[in-house]
Amino acid sequence: MADAANKCARQRFLEFLAQKNLRMTGQRRAIIETVFSTEEHFTAEQLLEWSRRRDKSVSRATVYRTLPLLTESGLVREMDFGKEHKFYDPNYAEHPRHNHIICQDCGKIVEFESEKIEHVENEISRRLGYAVKSHRLQITATCEEFRQRGKCSKKRP
Ligand SMILES: [Zn+2]
Ligand SMILES: [Zn+2]
Repeated sequence: MADAANKCARQRFLEFLAQKNLRMTGQRRAIIETVFSTEEHFTAEQLLEWSRRRDKSVSRATVYRTLPLLTESGLVREMDFGKEHKFYDPNYAEHPRHNHIICQDCGKIVEFESEKIEHVENEISRRLGYAVKSHRLQITATCEEFRQRGKCSKKRP
């Protein structure tokens, strides 16, 4: 766990809220603590469930109102992995260049960074007269368990 780094992302989000003159409520605090203490990708409903473990009073409405603020701040990114629900990724603040590989069966997501990919990116953009601002690379694959057993035990029904 990059503990110091997470504190930093949380601090940046609090400053973002202050700039917008948004009040810090107990519910919102529970949601923010939850988001910046995980490195997992989560759905809105997962965030609701996890936040309620910290504070039972957290409402679905507050979660759905806070998510757009998190994405607007640039500290959390909305991800479409081609699943029924959008996922939210809290790891871009500290690892802005990371990529994802996802199992098409169980949906297991693994993050990776690659200097080679960055190199190719820089080379191509330079050649075409562009400067890279952001990138998004998502590989759909089958995980090791799927290849060995033909199914994934963690697959959600
Ligand atoms: Zn990620
Ligand atoms: Zn799998």
